[in-house]
Amino acid sequence: MYDVPMFIDGAEHRAVDGAWFDSEDPYTGKPWAQVAQGGAADVDLAVATANAALEADAWGGLTATARGALLVRLADVIAEHADELAALEVNDNGKLLAEMAGQVAYVPQWFRYYGGLADKIEGRVLPIDKPGYFAYTRREPVGVTAIITPWNSPLLLLAWKLAPALAAGCTVVVKPSEFTSASTVALARLLHEAGLPKGVFNVVTGFGKDVGAPLVEHPDVAKVSFTGSDATGRSIGASAGQGIKHVALELGGKSPNIVFADADLISAANGVVSGIFAATGQTCIAGSRLLVQREIHDELVSRVVELAGTARMGDPRSPDTQVGPITTRPQYQKVLSYLDVAREDGAQVALGGGPADPADVGDGWFVRPTIFTGVRNDMRIAQEEVFGPVLAVIPFEDEADAVRIANDSAYGLGAGVWTSDMGRALRMADAIKAGTVWVNTYRAVSFMAPFGGYKSSGVGRENGAEAIEEYLETKTVWINSGAPVGNPFVLK
Ligand code: NAD
Repeated sequence: MYDVPMFIDGAEHRAVDGAWFDSEDPYTGKPWAQVAQGGAADVDLAVATANAALEADAWGGLTATARGALLVRLADVIAEHADELAALEVNDNGKLLAEMAGQVAYVPQWFRYYGGLADKIEGRVLPIDKPGYFAYTRREPVGVTAIITPWNSPLLLLAWKLAPALAAGCTVVVKPSEFTSASTVALARLLHEAGLPKGVFNVVTGFGKDVGAPLVEHPDVAKVSFTGSDATGRSIGASAGQGIKHVALELGGKSPNIVFADADLISAANGVVSGIFAATGQTCIAGSRLLVQREIHDELVSRVVELAGTARMGDPRSPDTQVGPITTRPQYQKVLSYLDVAREDGAQVALGGGPADPADVGDGWFVRPTIFTGVRNDMRIAQEEVFGPVLAVIPFEDEADAVRIANDSAYGLGAGVWTSDMGRALRMADAIKAGTVWVNTYRAVSFMAPFGGYKSSGVGRENGAEAIEEYLETKTVWINSGAPVGNPFVLK
């Protein structure tokens, strides 16, 4: 068994009470690693060391230029070890090695981009309206940042938070998903070996209630940045509110992929399939609702069914596999239960509709790519996030109808629009209430493109230059340069 300890104050750390738990390989359904099972005492140690590192010369004493240069060096180290980090992720989450290798190979770009931004963080002199005063602003790191991540893309989603937090001068305590802790601990070890000072990047492994909740509640944590489900996000938001902490929430979605009759249907079918079946549908931006203009409904559905029906399921480490297992046992049960919900609500199965045959794929947690037609947007299968390979097809009449259905959702993370009419594309991009709209493409992300949700999909933005603001405080300094003393009982 592979050991996944915690990482605190620049060193490996076992749980204060000595407990461990198993992490299972979703392809075999068998344990492959044991993970240190942390609790509040481990959180206290990690937050104390992160707090001390904030002011320590080795980190707090670095110039912004030196901090940025360090991040750029760390990017090279991650690039050198990308393959081994990706292999750890596949053991834990069963996503395709091809997908995880691509994701981890992309992670260094966040460290390069935010490393470059570190010394472009500037305060400003205010053209103050009151005579006899000089006033300016300083930008300061917000402080100890708690980062809580999900299991679907552990290192990529961590990098979206870690790189800007470090560039801003914060220190962090990361609580990875209990299902996928190995790569985060390996990254912490690697970055410290490469020169990141101790205490700057700490990892406490364990369960949400044991580690995540005390971390969010800890009085010395100034900022909480969370990616995960909206249920957990609500409870973290409430707890952070009680503690008057900065909070960013990247939550779920029920994103529409909208195909107009004038679209190139070959590209659209391809985009629809990759939008929902890539990563076995386990992405927050999964295009889980296909909104299709009624006159092309049958043609598009048959193209999508045909393409998705050819998907090869199997070992995520094999280059031939196109759809891997569901990452966790509870998630597997949840996806299967939604297949029943959709059928009971009257949707028709056009493809899949159940677990894969173990004779084909072994004992892992496989669900066949599933397409439901005859879906109305008020059905649960169209409103609730499944987080699996399940597509709900909903017909629409015209542009206004497409906008109405697309926006009739508690979520607002992403949306795809497929059309050859650029005017229509721009109108749709204006009208859709979502943090990202893709036109004639789907699921593209970049370190320089802001990402986040409207409505229940979240609060705050990641990626792009403005994301560094999430990790900064603004301080205003007033200097009397000759103002009259004035009346002490009246506001200056
Ligand atoms: P989850 O909410 O169950 O868990 C996420 C993390 O929160 C885990 O580390 C978990 O241990 C921790 N946690 C659980 N309870 C907690 C508590 N009370 N206090 C503090 N931490 C707690 O989510 P998941 O199942 O790991 O991930 C899937 C979800 O993540 C999906 O809903 C998906 O849409 C969402 N997601 C969103 C984005 C995005 O950027 N918007 C990206 C990926 C995934």
